[in-house]
Amino acid sequence: MSPELHTILIWIQIAAALVTVLLVSRVRAPYGRHNRVGWGPQLPARWGWIAMESPPILLFLWIYLRGPHAADVVPLVLLALWQLHYIHRAYVFPFRMRNSGKTMPVLVVLLAIAFNSLNATINATQLSRFGDYPAQWLLDPRLIVGAAIFLVGMGINLHADTVLLNLRRPGETGYKIPKGGLYRFISCPNYLGEILEWIGFAVATWSMAGLAFALYTIANVGPRALSHHRWYRETFPDYPKRRRALIPFVL
Ligand code: NDP
Repeated sequence: MSPELHTILIWIQIAAALVTVLLVSRVRAPYGRHNRVGWGPQLPARWGWIAMESPPILLFLWIYLRGPHAADVVPLVLLALWQLHYIHRAYVFPFRMRNSGKTMPVLVVLLAIAFNSLNATINATQLSRFGDYPAQWLLDPRLIVGAAIFLVGMGINLHADTVLLNLRRPGETGYKIPKGGLYRFISCPNYLGEILEWIGFAVATWSMAGLAFALYTIANVGPRALSHHRWYRETFPDYPKRRRALIPFVL
């Protein structure tokens, strides 16, 4: 891939973030509690997650390994952070979900595969081809601070998802009020953690590719956090009044 094409793909992703924030602010993405009829054929939610989250592992690795810097230490560290997140998301998280019988639209899965493939392409190319990451980058504050933000975000995301997944007993499919940890302050700490992860990755890679993904994540899960928050308040009369949607005390 030429540097020019890489830049064009990054700008396409930034444009996609703008389109996404406009769309999902008006139309709730139809999966999970917001799934509804009228979005075409459906498939089991668990398999949907595995299908849509696999390109960031497999396609990413394939592209990464073709880059001239694939064996350099810093790209390998960044690759490890990326794969740590996605191996959990694609091959562990779907099997922890207590969602027997739940489905999601094939359309959602196809759109996610398209986005994830674009995102994997620009970020894998960044790490092993166009990024300038000599071994000294290991001591650069951008890598250290970025990796720390990523890991804190991942910890928040994992804890928050675990709280949600433990709300249901085996066989249950309904919804309850999550409690504890950051749920004391916000309705969607899993999305806050996700956003922190990709902001951290953008800082650690100090790249437009990383920034494009962080922006897309904010554009995608930000409005969804607001929808979830509204839904909780409408559904549970005893929902904690002071809890915010995404950012403690702010939003
Ligand atoms: P949700 O919070 O909607 O759901 C997560 C899981 O918990 C689902 O299995 C859901 O069940 C269950 N659950 C949620 N709330 C409750 C509740 N109150 N009571 C009982 N069970 C509940 O998250 P998403 O499905 O949107 O996302 C899952 C993960 O993927 C998150 O960590 C998120 O950050 C990440 N993600 C990342 C994106 C990105 O752009 N980088 C985009 C979207 C998600 P059910 O499915 O039945 O609702």
